[in-house]
Amino acid sequence: MVLPTVAIVGQPNVGKSTLFNRIINQRLAIVEDRPGVTRDRNYAKASWLGHDFNVIDTGGITWEGGRIEDEIRAQADIAMEESDVIVMVTSVALHLTDLDERIAQMLYRADKPVLLAVNKADNPEQRADIYEFYSLGLGDPIPISSSHGTGIGDLLDAVVENFPPESDNKDSDEIAFSVIGRPNVGKSSIINALLGENRVIVANEEGTTRDAIDTPFSTEDGTHFKMIDTAGIRRRGKVYEKTEKYSVLRALSAIQRSDVVLLVLDASTGIREQDKHVAGYAHDEGKGVIIVVNKWDLPKKDSNSAKDFTAVIRNEFQYLDYAPVIFVSAKTHQNLNQLPKLIKEVNYNQSQRIQSSVLNDMLLEASKLVPAPLIKGKRLRVYYMTQVATTPPTFVVFVNDPELMHFSYKRFLINQLRDNFNFTGTPIKILPRKRK
Ligand code: GDP
Repeated sequence: MVLPTVAIVGQPNVGKSTLFNRIINQRLAIVEDRPGVTRDRNYAKASWLGHDFNVIDTGGITWEGGRIEDEIRAQADIAMEESDVIVMVTSVALHLTDLDERIAQMLYRADKPVLLAVNKADNPEQRADIYEFYSLGLGDPIPISSSHGTGIGDLLDAVVENFPPESDNKDSDEIAFSVIGRPNVGKSSIINALLGENRVIVANEEGTTRDAIDTPFSTEDGTHFKMIDTAGIRRRGKVYEKTEKYSVLRALSAIQRSDVVLLVLDASTGIREQDKHVAGYAHDEGKGVIIVVNKWDLPKKDSNSAKDFTAVIRNEFQYLDYAPVIFVSAKTHQNLNQLPKLIKEVNYNQSQRIQSSVLNDMLLEASKLVPAPLIKGKRLRVYYMTQVATTPPTFVVFVNDPELMHFSYKRFLINQLRDNFNFTGTPIKILPRKRK
């Protein structure tokens, strides 16, 4: 599901990060079954009154030597491009400033709701001082105190009210994918080659700004794809697009909107730390993943090269053991025509539903193979298993005591599922539940 995104903008020292932290701490701990990957500090998931959303602290996306003017412009741009609701933060302690006015003027161009939060309104006198902010022309100022936590609820109520209506505007027969990877691995070359070989469908005028940069295309067999754009791929030039934090942010929102993610590696440079960082996000979001080794024309090869490189990948990305690996060259087009087929296959696998009766036959066989473990004198009993969701395939397993279902037993069940069905390319989630 695509979550709405809220962006926080404002001049320095108004308390953007404090507000950001407040908002993400409202979130109840969600018990996750996949190992977590560190979240970027400027981007997080949050929840208010049952609405899940993403929050971006645009103030955290800075770069060396950035002048304040460039910085606030970049913040406003990022907010306008990436979010559904913008929260502009000002401060009663600083009073209304020139910078506030300049930011507000930039935000007049936004075609999305802008809310005005006046921070550091810690006490009643200060709350009375918010009236000067009416002159920004952004509607009623909402007094908040990020450090005390007051007013945050009212702000979030207003944020949630302004979310776009929930739309599942995904065509059911359209497979959304994105191409991610660190700079220069060849993402744009791959995309251009793919779009060059297939029939690009001219996008209609409807849809949001963000949709406009996605490219629908279809292959000869009539499969419809939608390529989700990420920063710096189709359109370059803005200074902040080169900053790593922004590219991570952009990759994250692209990943969230994808069914399948192509993680591109560069055969000529090998695997770098940043590759793992990007890969972690794809895995963490539960998307289908295909590892694409590009520039395969460059290394000197013998008959073992692909096998050897695959072994290195398996070792470096152990949690992506389900992701198929494909060797391509955007330059010579070697194997590129295999990509749409592979994306389609992974999408099929991640959308599968397995009947409970079939699952329970599997469970029975599995328990004959390996008896459930004995933990501190208590035996795990596994009663029943059922699939509750797809993309990623998610299975609830009813047991006597969920505490007894350790990682290794989950792993065992996941392996059983992979042995019995084709889940190539997709993560699998196992949720133990106590049988009532
Ligand atoms: P991006 O930053 O990931 O989008 O990478 P680009 O697509 O801009 O490619 C970075 C550089 O690698 C460019 O100079 C490309 O021409 C080159 N390149 C991309 N794919 C290949 C490939 O398959 N083989 C070779 N030899 N060069 C490639």
